Amino acid sequence: MALRSLVESANVPGCDFPLEHLPWGRFERSSHPGEWHVGVAIGTKAFDLTEFARAGHCGALDPMLRDALHRGCMNALLALGRPAWSQARRWAQRLLSADEPALRDRADRDRFIASQDQLRMAMLAEVGDYTDFYASIHHATNVGSMFRPDNPLLPNWRHVPIGYHGRASTLVPSGTAVRRPCGQTSTADAGPPSFGPCRLLDYELEVGVVLGPGNEQGDRIDIASARDRLFGICLVNDWSARDVQKWEYVPLGPFTAKNFSTSVGAWVTPLEAIEAWMEPGPVRDAAAPENLPYLRWKDDFTFDLKLQVLLRSARMREQGVPAMQVSLGTYRDMYWTFAQMLAHHASTGCAMRPGDLLASGTVSGPTPDSRGCLLERTWRGTEPLSLPDGTQRKFLEDGDEVILRGWFEGKGSMPRIGLGECRGVVLPALV
Ligand code: CA
Repeated sequence: MALRSLVESANVPGCDFPLEHLPWGRFERSSHPGEWHVGVAIGTKAFDLTEFARAGHCGALDPMLRDALHRGCMNALLALGRPAWSQARRWAQRLLSADEPALRDRADRDRFIASQDQLRMAMLAEVGDYTDFYASIHHATNVGSMFRPDNPLLPNWRHVPIGYHGRASTLVPSGTAVRRPCGQTSTADAGPPSFGPCRLLDYELEVGVVLGPGNEQGDRIDIASARDRLFGICLVNDWSARDVQKWEYVPLGPFTAKNFSTSVGAWVTPLEAIEAWMEPGPVRDAAAPENLPYLRWKDDFTFDLKLQVLLRSARMREQGVPAMQVSLGTYRDMYWTFAQMLAHHASTGCAMRPGDLLASGTVSGPTPDSRGCLLERTWRGTEPLSLPDGTQRKFLEDGDEVILRGWFEGKGSMPRIGLGECRGVVLPALV
């Protein structure tokens, strides 16, 4: 039996944000310009917890939690850890219930319940550091086979969660347009290079995890404690300049090919909201070696998060043609887990901090229609996609809009919940 909310749009079957979900977001309201508030999404609305705290209605909460909400400071809330997250969630869920009069019967209810289309969304937290992994064996094998047909998966891959340190300063919330970057490229492996607009612009469908309590520099994070340090998940699009990447990635990996923009879904789903979908895993094939002890955890988990990429050209928008599905996959196909990524990241004593963002790397599955970037989906442009506007795509054109969606299908008493979307339009390069 689904929970009923006082916000009617949350009770519509199939909506992304029913009362069981309550993802967190940070936003500016037109009634409070220049202020960032935090709150939870409910149906087509948001419950402004900062405004509720400032009105003095959060007396039931622990003082530090109340203070974090009052300040609209998500990083402070993230630092408090799982008991505080859980307390805030249960409290908000009760207040938003159709049976609970405390908020429902307030004459000034609209002060605290805002329409999402009236909000200017920010990144959930101030992200100090962002790291991108490479956790899909299908993605790693596909990309490897294009560049090294005889040796697609390097020997270290099944032992170490590969990643690179990304650029936190260019993380942008969903809806922000993405400028085609300029960069250094070369058509021949030995050069000479030239500088100009990226010609092989791509997206990467990924899932991010926002971190809670971190560790002191010099300390490691035990993988068994990872669950309490992972706050929640969100959609991530790691926009990539493939021609720049191909020329620059040797020997230190991605640099400017990935540092111009990374789009992040504005609503972050707490892990507590998806416990019904967590399953032991991941399930690996017989060739998988046993991992080193610091990457092993008997309670490690994965989940069947459906992940979809849609594409809509400028012409399709003008013609009113809906976005076309480019791929559909599931997070369950990933090889490395978020717990393993976190434990590995901190295994040297690297300090992790509340609000840090880890992204999974491109989520690709075993079939062509579950490949999470155009490089794989069009197999380096050799199998172009046909769009409903009559054009073809090997890589992204100016005006193209990429829309990522993610959702969990209904399960038992839990209704379907959705991660919302992560979208961005490609703007022409500035030359
Ligand atoms: Ca990536």
